[in-house]
Amino acid sequence: MNRPAAAYDFVVRGATVLTSADSFVGDIAVADGRVAALGAVEAGTAEIVDARGLVAVPGGVDAHTHFDMPFAGGTTADDFETGTRAALFGGTTTIIDFATQRRGASLLSALEAWHAKADGRCLADYAFHMAITDFSARASAEVERLAREGVTSLKLYLAYPGTLMSEDDAVLRALRRSNEVGALVSLHCENGRAIAELVRRALREGRRGCANHPLTRPPELEAEAVRRAAALARAARAPVYLVHLSAAESLETVRRCRQGGAFVLAETCPQYLYLSAREYERPGLAAAPFVVCPPLRSREDAQALWAGLAAGEFQAVASDHCSFPARTRPGRPGKDRGRRDFSRVPGGAPGVETRLPLLWEAVQRGDISTGRFVELAACGPAKAFGLYPRKGHLNPGADADIVLIDPRHRAAITARALHHAVDYTPFEGLTVHGAVRDVWLRGKRMLSQGRLLGRPGDGRYISRSRRQFCL
Ligand code: MN
Repeated sequence: MNRPAAAYDFVVRGATVLTSADSFVGDIAVADGRVAALGAVEAGTAEIVDARGLVAVPGGVDAHTHFDMPFAGGTTADDFETGTRAALFGGTTTIIDFATQRRGASLLSALEAWHAKADGRCLADYAFHMAITDFSARASAEVERLAREGVTSLKLYLAYPGTLMSEDDAVLRALRRSNEVGALVSLHCENGRAIAELVRRALREGRRGCANHPLTRPPELEAEAVRRAAALARAARAPVYLVHLSAAESLETVRRCRQGGAFVLAETCPQYLYLSAREYERPGLAAAPFVVCPPLRSREDAQALWAGLAAGEFQAVASDHCSFPARTRPGRPGKDRGRRDFSRVPGGAPGVETRLPLLWEAVQRGDISTGRFVELAACGPAKAFGLYPRKGHLNPGADADIVLIDPRHRAAITARALHHAVDYTPFEGLTVHGAVRDVWLRGKRMLSQGRLLGRPGDGRYISRSRRQFCL
C-alpha cells in the first residue's frame, strides 16, 4: 500500500504519534504536502527528521478567531498576518475567522471583503464563517452560493441588540435555510435584551467598574439562550453549534436538550477553564484585559467545564482570539474606552497562541486524555466545520499539518514570549509543560526548533465541505 520509499519528501521518525483514537511510537511519511504513511516507514533517500522523544500531533484547528475585525471605527489589534503567525507558534495550522455582514448588505460582499483582508497575508491555512447581522431574504438567497464558495457555516448572535443580535424568527430561518444546503449555524448564547437592561440599571445606579461586567451578564442569561438555541434548532430540525460556553448551568442545559433530542455541538475556551471572575476584582482598568463575553465565571463553573471536556460533552476548544490594546490609538480601539463605563470596554482577549499549549497542559495535569486532546484541539472542530478528513487528523491522505511538541519543556506563559500584537496575555504566569517545537503546514516547514521559517502567503484559503447528512 505504501508508496515507494524514494517518493517521500521527508519522514518524521520515532515520534510518539497521537490520534483521536490511539497513540504509538512511529514514523510519519510525507509526500506532496500530505501524510503518505504512518507507522514503521521505509525512508529510502527521503530526508529524515529525528523526532525521538517528541510528540507528534495534528496541526491545531482553531474554529473561532477575530482577526482584523471592525470595531468602533477601527479594528482589532491582530490582523491576519500577526494572528496566523501567533497561531503557528502555538501549533495551530488552521483558523476559521468570521466574515461579518454589514447590516442590510450582502453576504457575498462581506466574503469578498474578508478575502481581501486575508489574501497573501496568512501563515496558517484559513477559512471563514459568515457572521450574520440581518438574515434578510437576500441573505437567505445567498447561502447556497456561500456554501459553494466553501463557507459552510453561519454565525448568529443572541446578544448585542442593535448591532449584531438576531431575533428568534431570523435564527429559525437561518437554521432551516442552512440545513437545506448542508451548512451549520453557530450561535452566541446570551440573552442580549435582558443584559442590556441589567447594564442600564448598573450605570443608572452609578456602578461603573469592571466588577459589574460579570454581574450584568449572569450565567442564567447564558443558559436561557442555550435552551432557546436548542429549541429553535429542534424546531428547524437542524443541528446547531454553540460557541464559547462558559458556565455549569449552560452545560447542564445542553445535556438536557440533547436528552430531549436536540442535535447540539458545543465549544468552550481556555479562559473559561483556567481563569475565574476573581480577575474582575482588580482595581480600575487592571480588570479590563479580562473583559470577555460571556464573562469569566466561578471556579465551580470551570470545574464543571473540565468534567464536560473529559466526558466528551464538548466538540471543540477554541480561542475566541479577539485582541484589543490597553490604550486606544487612531484606528485601534483599546480597553481604556471603558475607563468610566465598564460596558464600553471592548470585549475580547488574545488566545490563539496559547490555546493548544493550554490543552496540552490539561493532558499533563491528567484532566483529559491524549485522545480527547486531539479531538478538542483539532479533530472535533475539523469535523464540525467541514475540514475533515483533510484537516484535524494525521490520517494518510490528510494535509501534512504536523506539530512536534517537546514534552520535557516547562515554562510560564508570558506576553513577552508570545507573537500576537498586544502586550498582554490573560494567562500571564501560568506554567505549562510542553513546547511547540516544529510545525509543518501541508508539508512545508513553517517552524523549526522554535524558529520561524514560514512567510505571509504560505497559508491558503480552505474551501470547507458541506455536512453530508440532514436531520
Ligand atoms: Mn467571538
